[in-house]
Amino acid sequence: MPKPRGRQFFANPGPTNIPDSILRAIDRPAQDFMEEAFIALVRDCTARLKRVLGTSGEVFMMASSGHGAWEASLVNLFSPGDRLLMLESGYFSESWTEMARKFGLEVQTVAADRRRGVDPAAVEAALRADAAHALKAVCLVHNETSTGVTVPPAAIRAAIDAARHPALLLADTISSLGSIPFRMDEWGIDLAVGGSQKGLMLPTGMAFTAVGAKGMEAHRRARLPRHYMDWSVMMTRPHRSFVGTVPTQMFHGLAEALRLIEEEGLEAVFARHARLGGAVRAAVRAWSGNDGPQIYCVDPQRQSNSVTAILMPDGHDAEALRRHAAGRYNVSLGGGLGALGGRVFRIGHLGDLNEPMVLGTLGAVEMSLRDLGIPHGRGGVQAAMDALA
Ligand code: PLP
Repeated sequence: MPKPRGRQFFANPGPTNIPDSILRAIDRPAQDFMEEAFIALVRDCTARLKRVLGTSGEVFMMASSGHGAWEASLVNLFSPGDRLLMLESGYFSESWTEMARKFGLEVQTVAADRRRGVDPAAVEAALRADAAHALKAVCLVHNETSTGVTVPPAAIRAAIDAARHPALLLADTISSLGSIPFRMDEWGIDLAVGGSQKGLMLPTGMAFTAVGAKGMEAHRRARLPRHYMDWSVMMTRPHRSFVGTVPTQMFHGLAEALRLIEEEGLEAVFARHARLGGAVRAAVRAWSGNDGPQIYCVDPQRQSNSVTAILMPDGHDAEALRRHAAGRYNVSLGGGLGALGGRVFRIGHLGDLNEPMVLGTLGAVEMSLRDLGIPHGRGGVQAAMDALA
């Protein structure tokens, strides 16, 4: 098939659409990263990023994707043999677990129904059973991008406190920051990991850890080997981030991203995501008729406003649908990850997105369902428009 004409509709849950004004802000020549004006830009961006995170703690940035921030969270807080409690959510909690084990950490998991997410009572029970306080941290993925299921961090903090357990609370906010509410200090989160390419609307390649006072205290005792991601080394640098060369263009992009978020207002950003996420879910509920595709997350309270994973009817391949939507309509959807490969496709509805972009994507999915003879209920786009009206 020849490549379809017209603009691509990019409905991946990360990377996400990069606004033109961010592309223009990044499009500039190399610069000395030790220049005073640039150091001031980094400091200004860091202070404003803290407001998005809802923290007065430290923010340490590095040139990497989100995996780098995961690694930074582990090497900066723990010592070989330390024990973590990972709340199972899906592909990304599994990947963080795998990384921790490779670093010589012991990981105990709290099992969860993947379509509902973890039960805070199970977290409390696991912590109460740890009378010796061997568990050093509880780790959660706030928005599991592979399933579209969110975990309420405040409820997990309440479970830790109810068990009177001193474990740190670590939250992955990679696909929640800047799209659904995340309030680090208010929710008692000791460390957050984030990345550039989702709600912040930037290219992939910058990641960060945000750390509260309890996390910094743990850092001073932590003995895992580290260098590039070492917060103590970063603190000796004028930017208080980056052990190596600083990606200067990324900061001009970040300043513009923060300007866009501030101009719209963080609460309005969240409301827009809630509106668009609601429209996508209304469409999928309509398609689910006639034994059609379904919203993977079955708990309405936990359905993500930044990504919806959609479970295909038995015997139908999500990858065939994705190929068709891309090849015929130039719409890029997310695929199923890990065990969900071929069984789900994902519509990312985060970042620089508005109603017509979402409706266009939903229209292409609905036409693809029809083109491929996949059973579904009609009227998904109409239901989405009704939800938006
Ligand atoms: N955590 C979550 C929730 C993610 O969605 C992703 C990537 O999509 C990651 C971690 C890993 O980040 P990266 O792919 O940027 O290394």
